[in-house]
Amino acid sequence: MNPFLLPSGGTCVQVPGLMYPDPRDHSAVQEAVETCLNCPAYLACTAYAETLTPDTDPGGVIAALTFEERDPANAQRTCHECGETKPLRDFGRHSGKATHRRTCKGCMADRSRELRLSREEVAA
Ligand code: SF4
Ligand SMILES: [Zn+2]
Repeated sequence: MNPFLLPSGGTCVQVPGLMYPDPRDHSAVQEAVETCLNCPAYLACTAYAETLTPDTDPGGVIAALTFEERDPANAQRTCHECGETKPLRDFGRHSGKATHRRTCKGCMADRSRELRLSREEVAA
């Protein structure tokens, strides 16, 4: 990743190695994504990431998105809960942020249903 093209003040400039995780290593990808979500330049970087095309994209995780997620032709992700690969529209967004959750809407709904049922059991 060329730090000179990124918005200034980005955390990744201090930890460049972290931003190129092995795509199969979920915890390393997650660590890079978290770095972006906590980065002071995150919003500016999201705008920067939107200007990239597969030809100009330097790779790695940028603005909490992997290279595959940044390519509109590949706009899908694998749910961390059910393991299914689905279009990005099947993933809700983090509240107040532009990025999508890593758990699909169906799994999020299952989770809140289970939570509600367990609360009802406790109350009964
Ligand atoms: S959001 Fe991520 S890629 Fe962008 S500047 Fe911050 S750490 Fe770097
Ligand atoms: Zn799921």
